[in-house]
Amino acid sequence: MQIIELETSKHSEILDITERVDSIVQKSGIKEGICIVFCPHTTAAITINENADPSVKKDMINSLETLIPWTNDYAHIEGNSAAHIKSAMIGSSRTIIVKDGHLMLGTWQGIFFIEFDGPRKREVYMEVVPK
Ligand code: ZN
Repeated sequence: MQIIELETSKHSEILDITERVDSIVQKSGIKEGICIVFCPHTTAAITINENADPSVKKDMINSLETLIPWTNDYAHIEGNSAAHIKSAMIGSSRTIIVKDGHLMLGTWQGIFFIEFDGPRKREVYMEVVPK
């Protein structure tokens, strides 16, 4: 297993980790298989989406905030229920096919780590599994 260390700087933020994931795939030497990207945190998530236009990240953060507002009639005493709910909605992992030593992402796709309760130090776990 490999660990990607991240430091978020905002309360809600999307970080593009595609190059870091790709670099670990390259170093693994595995040409054919799958790559698992896993977030071990309950207030963050992993997704794949458009990385060409930075406005998409902004729209995702803003729309999730509208759907799940920070302040609501939540029971969770820690006060960060919105972050837990958003984390569960987006999900904690993604699996990407590796072919010819490359991540088989679509032309406009990038791998995103999403912070919902930052700023914090975070980790992403990765495993490249040969075919
Ligand atoms: Zn909590």
